[in-house]
Amino acid sequence: MTSVAPPKLTLRAELLAQLAEPQTFDVTVVGGGATGLGVALDAAARGLRVLLLEAHDFAKGTSSRSTKLVHGGVRYLAQGQLAFVRESLKERALLLAHAPHLAQPLAFVIPTYRWWNKPFYGAGLKLYDVLAGAVGLGATELLNPEQTRALLPTVQTQGLHGGVKYWDGQFNDARLAITLARTAAAHGALMLNYCPVNELLYDQGRVAGLVCTDAETGKSYRVRSRCVINATGVWVSELCAQDNSERSSPERTGSRSPGVTPSQGIHLVVDRAFLPGDAALMIPKTADGRVLFALPWLGKVILGTTDTPRDDLPLEPQPMAHEVDFILAETGRYLSRAPTRQDVRSAWAGLRPLAQEAQPVGHSGSASGVTSKLSRDHKIWASPSGLLSVTGGKWTTYRAMAQDVMDACFEQGLLDATWALRGGTEHLSLLGSEAANGGNSIREIEGLHSYGSEAEYVQACSEKESELAAGLTPAMVRFAVRHEYARTVEDVLARRSRLLFLDAALAREVAPKVATILAQEAVVAPQIVRFDALAANYLSLPNKVS
Ligand SMILES: Cc1cc2nc3c(=O)[nH]c(=O)nc-3n(C[C@H](O)[C@H](O)[C@H](O)COP(=O)(O)OP(=O)(O)OC[C@H]3O[C@@H](n4cnc5c(N)ncnc54)[C@H](O)[C@@H]3O)c2cc1C
Repeated sequence: MTSVAPPKLTLRAELLAQLAEPQTFDVTVVGGGATGLGVALDAAARGLRVLLLEAHDFAKGTSSRSTKLVHGGVRYLAQGQLAFVRESLKERALLLAHAPHLAQPLAFVIPTYRWWNKPFYGAGLKLYDVLAGAVGLGATELLNPEQTRALLPTVQTQGLHGGVKYWDGQFNDARLAITLARTAAAHGALMLNYCPVNELLYDQGRVAGLVCTDAETGKSYRVRSRCVINATGVWVSELCAQDNSERSSPERTGSRSPGVTPSQGIHLVVDRAFLPGDAALMIPKTADGRVLFALPWLGKVILGTTDTPRDDLPLEPQPMAHEVDFILAETGRYLSRAPTRQDVRSAWAGLRPLAQEAQPVGHSGSASGVTSKLSRDHKIWASPSGLLSVTGGKWTTYRAMAQDVMDACFEQGLLDATWALRGGTEHLSLLGSEAANGGNSIREIEGLHSYGSEAEYVQACSEKESELAAGLTPAMVRFAVRHEYARTVEDVLARRSRLLFLDAALAREVAPKVATILAQEAVVAPQIVRFDALAANYLSLPNKVS
């Protein structure tokens, strides 16, 4: 065994017993996506008494459905958002350092087909290198056609002039979320999934706690807290609608309530044969002026994404036919073999919580229909009752967002300012980070590499049982239940393992075996039927737009 601390148990009955104890938390975070988890970790690392409540599973919302880029945002560079790009590049470096088992550098290649493309993109990416400064991952290089083909063996060679290679990072979003939850717990935070918040509690007009419900038993808990943070992503306005101070002062709603313009992005996953090698393909300008990626990830290739305004907020958004057509057509133009609907192993969609500027009531940011031009920066709102809401931003900047939220708590007088001087996450490594990683592991099929220095503890959960499928072992399933808050087959196959996102048919096949192991681990309702229906959705693509 290594000197790495043994993982904490995440037995639900014990977590709920802690929730029932009479106490006042310093910080209660509502929402267990990238934003809320980051805040919980920042607050816990300062030594504050922290509770986080998630309605479903950690990262069930947008935070498991990203393109998996840890990036400064080349696209935002073109939009002139230099400060945002610089901050993101700094955060990129910190994330790669804090979780090397889950986030690693990745070379991106832009193949060029016109003589001016190479100097044009080359110059922009050199500026990207300059903004990264000392935390750059490698210098941008101009490539000739042979060098381009060596990095992208399946690139369309007809008319190929060469390419531009630059560096960014990629990561495993849902596993990072679980790791943040576990690291916060290791710092004393109480983290609970399947515990939606239904109501806010008040003392003399100020938010002083909330009511949440254990989704498994229906039992409600009243929780007292000095400060409540609403980090519910695209659903941020729903909790604000519960806030007395907003309800009693409707004229304030326009300026104080967070507004979100949801924008859907879809991804299609195909076999690695479509893009062998270790580099990603970057398409800088699609037919409608967006960027698109083909990325090697966990033994498959992710194609995406889109930017489609939506007016509704489904928990499981579905790819639309025109989005599928768009991705297949655009990637097909750059690959020697164009992927078709039959090649897609899994298709999934997520909703970006794009923060609106404070707007008068009735304004709809999506009315313009151009969400790709809306800022990816985050916004924090304080309601008159002291409820703090945060939305927007991106995964890459989750840590900086969390720091800003904590600063807002101190500025608003919700927490004693002496806490501002403590802790900090700039030098805080996440669980599993102690193991040195072989550089390419995030490109390889799932396996123990995702657990970093905790891999030995995973293996110890079951040494004799044979692999279930594609790198997933019974030991990983048992570890997910015992130490990673997993409660259902979906939790295991969508967010502890990523099999649902990689190969939905295989995930369906293996689900009964996972359910059996969950039952052996005393999970009462693994929800196999529900998982089967869900996985069917990741497989069935809408028909081509005629
Ligand atoms: C298609 C797409 C691609 C992206 N790609 C990238 C990328 O490559 N790199 C990058 O850095 N960023 C990327 N992003 C952005 C990034 O994924 C998001 O900014 C981030 O995941 C948002 O996290 P969040 O915590 O704010 O929201 P969420 O992850 O949605 O979390 C909010 C949580 O709140 C919970 N909740 C809601 N109501 C309640 C309640 N009443 N009680 C308790 N819990 C509640 C929800 O269940 C949910 O889990 C991408 C986004 C999309 C959509």
